Formats: sequence, structure tokens, C-alpha cells
Amino acid sequence: MSDTVFQQCTDPACGGTADLSATAFRCPRCGGLLDVAYDWNRVPVPKSLKHFEGKWANRANPLDFSGVWRFRELLPFAPDDAIITIGEGQTLCQRADAVASYAGLNAGRLFLQYEGMNPSGSFKDNGMCAAFTHARMTGAARAACASTGNTSASLAVYCAATQLMRGVIFIGSGKISYGKLSQALEHGALTLQIHGDFDDALRRVQEVSRQLGIYLVNSVNPFRLEGQKTIMYRVLEALRWEVPDWVVVPGGNLGNVSSFAKAFGELAELGLIARVPRLAVINAAGADTFYQLYEKHGLRWNGGQFDQSKIDSYYTALDSNNRRADTLASAIEINRPVNLPKALRALDRCNGVVRSVPDAEILDAKAKIGAGGLGCEPASAASVAGLRQLVREGVIGKDERVVCILTGHVLKDSDETVAYHTADQATFDAKLGKRGVKSVAFANRAVPVPNDLAAIVKAIETHG
Ligand SMILES: *Cc1c(COP(=O)(O)O)cnc(C)c1O
Ligand SMILES: [Zn+2]
Repeated sequence: MSDTVFQQCTDPACGGTADLSATAFRCPRCGGLLDVAYDWNRVPVPKSLKHFEGKWANRANPLDFSGVWRFRELLPFAPDDAIITIGEGQTLCQRADAVASYAGLNAGRLFLQYEGMNPSGSFKDNGMCAAFTHARMTGAARAACASTGNTSASLAVYCAATQLMRGVIFIGSGKISYGKLSQALEHGALTLQIHGDFDDALRRVQEVSRQLGIYLVNSVNPFRLEGQKTIMYRVLEALRWEVPDWVVVPGGNLGNVSSFAKAFGELAELGLIARVPRLAVINAAGADTFYQLYEKHGLRWNGGQFDQSKIDSYYTALDSNNRRADTLASAIEINRPVNLPKALRALDRCNGVVRSVPDAEILDAKAKIGAGGLGCEPASAASVAGLRQLVREGVIGKDERVVCILTGHVLKDSDETVAYHTADQATFDAKLGKRGVKSVAFANRAVPVPNDLAAIVKAIETHG
């Protein structure tokens, strides 16, 4: 293929390609996942990452203001006049000593990359602006996704803010947080609630998109992952272009980890960084397919020749035991991650590990992150819970420099936060008890006080 930008099969032995404009997002030869690929010799690439710093100053240009598109030379699939932005990626990477201490790291060694600051409140906007741009390049009028909540919130926001496409959203019944559902409804997306879970909804949306020619924005779409690479560029920028030792990320459909490794692999190939960090993916214990396959069944990328029979027999066992993903970290409540092969490649490229953490530890980590000043949703906190486990095991050293990705905003799921902190046992039991959480370590309980000045003063003096 002589094009500068095209889509390429992830299986090196297949060699299948598709045009930039193709929207099937499956290899035409083998049906496997595709990457967006560039002929880097034919696109202008900056000589140093410092090149990007100056763009901050150019706030009058929306493409330089965007935390995604100011790095557009590193995802050069769209001409400037085709790019769609609503100001995504204005996020921060904050040094977090109190959380470091909880996780067992020395002071100054932990940074939290807070993606809750995006327009729709999660990292998904990094990828959505890229997929949305590609969708418009292909002339799409409708876009669809299946979602545990944040992808649909993001799609709804982009459709509403740009008025360029109609959003169609598939959600499972009952398993979506109200914060996310409210975004889909408020921003006017057509919302279909499927009787089934996320894995069911994802299967259906792919069928429907094919049949009706609707553009699919799930993370099987490789253009989403191009946008998500910029999370890593911003991390590097915050660390003055020094590569951290570890990046720790929650794993659901495994798009983020795949995209992060692609970002680092390309930067290394282009000579813009000297080494890549290690990656740690954290599953919730109730949705830990990747952990089981990678750490317990020894599944490896193996140059693209990974053992599909291990995956097939694992899924067959899930089905025959009627095991459904079940965690209160709803954003990662996924048992059949679509990007599994890419994630295997990512861990191969970045010497990665996978861990699984129980819901109770996720909630405790979330409370500690909140007490440290950044509010995140449960799935995001899996990163810190997993880090803590890896430090305890000695896999991550106390003095290594670590970045945990906080993927979504605390207000996405305030029910769970209130249930955690509440003094009301019934609320706790209804929300957390039925998910097997017996107690919480860091509850900040509300203090009931009579409407009486003396009693209020006494309460403050007793508890303050
Ligand atoms: C989508 C999502 C994840 C999972 O990311 P993947 O790329 O699917 O692994 C984690 N946390 C939050 C808040 C999410 O919205
Ligand atoms: Zn192929």
C-alpha cells in the first residue's frame, strides 16, 4: 500500500490492509483488529517533543488549544480543516504524595493523570474527537456505540456540541451509573437499553452498524485509540519529557493500554524517547478475563501467534458456568475485551503485568484519592488499588516513578460514593453490601445534628 495513512492488520503474518476511509474496522483478509498506520517518512515529524510546548501559547487556534490535536503531527490522519474539537484534553497530571503513601511509594514518586476534566468527564473524549473526525471524513451521518456509560456520554456530547451527527447509544439494562445515563439523555442521543449486559450490547451494536451503515465508535475503532495516545504525550509533557518507570491503567475493553503502548512504540521508533515505560493493567476481580488469561493461563502475544484456543476455552467456560462480569466499577465490567490481542502486544512491547483487585480495595483506594484532592469514579481507582498491590509484591519499587490514570470523574457515580461514606446502613447494604463489600476503611460519615446552635457548635468541636 503506497498511501501515507492506511489501516493495517495487527497480525504481522497476515499483512492485510484497508484504506484510510474504510469503516468496517476489521481486517478484510482475516477479520482481525486494525491499527491506523503511517508512512512516517512521508509526514513531517518534529525533531524533539519540546516542539509541542509552544502550542499551549496559541490558544486562539482551537487545534492547538485541544490537548489532543496540538499533538496532531503524531496522529496525522486528518487534514487540519477536517478536524473536530470541542476543547478536549485540557487535563492535569498531579503529584500525589498522600496517595503515594497509601500505595507504599515514596514521596514525589506518584503522579495522577486526571482525565475527569474532559468535556464529558472521562478520558473517552480523547478518542471520541478522533473517531468523530474520521467519521465526518467518511461522510457518516450517524454514529453508534455500546457502552458501560462513558463512551455513550462522550458520543452524546460530541453530537450535541457539533450538531454534525446523530448519536445512537446501546446500553445494557440496569448496569449503567445515573451520572452517565443522564448525560446520554440530557445531550439528546437516541438511547437503546438492551436487555442484557455490556458484552451483549457490544455484539448487537456491531451487527446493527453493519446492517444500517452507521459509523461505529467503540474502541474496536482504531481511530479512537489514535486520540487516546495523547494522554501519554500529556503525561510526558507534565514530566518534562522524562519517561516514567510505570504507567498503571484500569482495563476494561483494553483500548487505553493498547493505545498507550502504540504511543510509546511510535515515539521510540521516531527517536523522540530513549526508552518505554512498563505498563500495568488493573482488572476488577469481578471482570478479570485479561488477568486470568495473561497471568494464570500464560497467554502471550508471541509475535502475533497468540494461542487463540486459550481464549476460546476461557470464554466457553464463562458461558457454561453462566458467569457474567460483576463489579461495582461499572466502566470496566467487561468479560470479553475487544482489544485483547492489541493489549497482549502492548504488554509485550512495554514489559507489562496484569493484576486483579476486589471491589472493596477499589473503593478504599477511591476514598484515598478523593481525600488527596482528585475525585474519580470506581473504575479509575482500580489503578491505585492495583499499584498498592504491586508495591506490596515488590514488583514496583518504592522509588520508581509511577503514573496512575484516573479515567473518569467522581460525579459519574455519586451513588457509590455516598453509599461508601454514608452513615445509613440501609443505603450501604443496598448499593455495596449486595456486591459483597462488607466494610469500608475510610468512610467520612455525615454527622447528624439537631437544628440547634449549641448542638452544632458542640458537633464541630467534637469532630473537627
Ligand atoms: C472506558 C473506561 C475504562 C476502561 O478503558 P478501556 O480502554 O476500555 O480498557 C476505565 N475507566 C473508565 C472511567 C472508563 O470510562
Ligand atoms: Zn489480517
